[in-house]
Amino acid sequence: MKTVDFYSCNCSGKRAFPDKRSAEKALGRAQAKRDRQAQTIRGRGPINRENRVYECEFSMWHLTKQSRASYLGAAA
Ligand SMILES: [Zn+2]
Repeated sequence: MKTVDFYSCNCSGKRAFPDKRSAEKALGRAQAKRDRQAQTIRGRGPINRENRVYECEFSMWHLTKQSRASYLGAAA
């Protein structure tokens, strides 16, 4: 059982994860937290938050923010 939750990465010093699953897990936690904070503005436009994971050049995974519109565009 892993106890280390995240790492820093050589690409930027940002929070990084060793695999996609860990990144997506953290992404879910970040979204749940922000959803609670943003409830009063829900439905009134894109909420700026991490909503995507990507693999960087060091083979680490990061969370990134992307507008809701471009997120939906990418999923279509
Ligand atoms: Zn990186």
